[in-house]
Amino acid sequence: MRAFTYERAGDAREAAAAVAARPEAKFISGGTNLLDLMKLDIERPAHLVDVSRLPLDRIEDTPEGGLRIGAQVRNSDLAADPRVRSRYPVLSQAMLAGASGQIRNKASAGGNLLQRTRCYYFYDRNMPCNKREPGSGCAALEGFNRMHAILGASEACIAVHPSDMAVAMAALDGSVETISPDGETRTIPVGDLHRLPGTTPNVETELGHGEMITAVTLPPAPPGRQIYRKVRDRASYAFALVSVAAIVEASGGGIRSARIAMGGVAAKPWRAGEAERALAGATVSNRAYTDAAEAALAGAKAYGGNDFKIPLAKRTVRHTLAAAIERA
Ligand code: SF4
Repeated sequence: MRAFTYERAGDAREAAAAVAARPEAKFISGGTNLLDLMKLDIERPAHLVDVSRLPLDRIEDTPEGGLRIGAQVRNSDLAADPRVRSRYPVLSQAMLAGASGQIRNKASAGGNLLQRTRCYYFYDRNMPCNKREPGSGCAALEGFNRMHAILGASEACIAVHPSDMAVAMAALDGSVETISPDGETRTIPVGDLHRLPGTTPNVETELGHGEMITAVTLPPAPPGRQIYRKVRDRASYAFALVSVAAIVEASGGGIRSARIAMGGVAAKPWRAGEAERALAGATVSNRAYTDAAEAALAGAKAYGGNDFKIPLAKRTVRHTLAAAIERA
């Protein structure tokens, strides 16, 4: 591990300025991903700014009827909050599907959204990886790519984003609030926070250097039944092969509205807009679920080891929609 210096920030603006002042500085909160990466020499910050004790650890009701979740709220506290459990169950289910109890007790809401891919080659310094070392190539393209992307990938990188929370937040139309070193704040929809790889997979989000997430906000809960379904290699402590967050409003044999976001399929939570449009106004039927699944995966492309993910994702969309509608 590279030697680094450390400071504990006094407030959010000071933290942002401290990171912005040094090109090799990084924020640290729970450290559940960053410390692993530092031990492997993948992340090599020269300076860490600890934001874990900033007063950003509250969940508050907003005047509009939504929730404002401080960036330092722990994943377990977020999953257990009664307002989240009753009004945003898809988020609570997604949080509980991620990591282990110990990690959820440590990991922060902001850090969850910014965790990095678990692509095996990204973690192996002996292998080419454009995300870790731009221009070196992508070992996963011709390698072991069972976990990799089927939507939105490029020839430069086919990694997926590992966060379950981000998928639920995308379905709920959540946003992040940030602060920049000059004190400027802005709001970014979660669906726009992460970038697709294109030719620069090393640039993963829209955040500038020193820009810090201070909160995650949710609009009022949408009507309908919410479900998060995660398919993985073992029942706990595993990343998604495919996950689906579905929010469906149905009545009188018809589907009024639907939202679908997928995880484990792309470098960002993938909102399936075509599928949502196909479902709105459709009659409740297996045909409607199948048409939506086909629309959601219409642009999918696999790379050999992950060919199975396309039919798996279609089945998961179908079954999640059926569960949401039939339990509604
Ligand atoms: Fe690196 Fe992305 Fe290729 Fe994985 S998929 S080896 S993260 S460039």
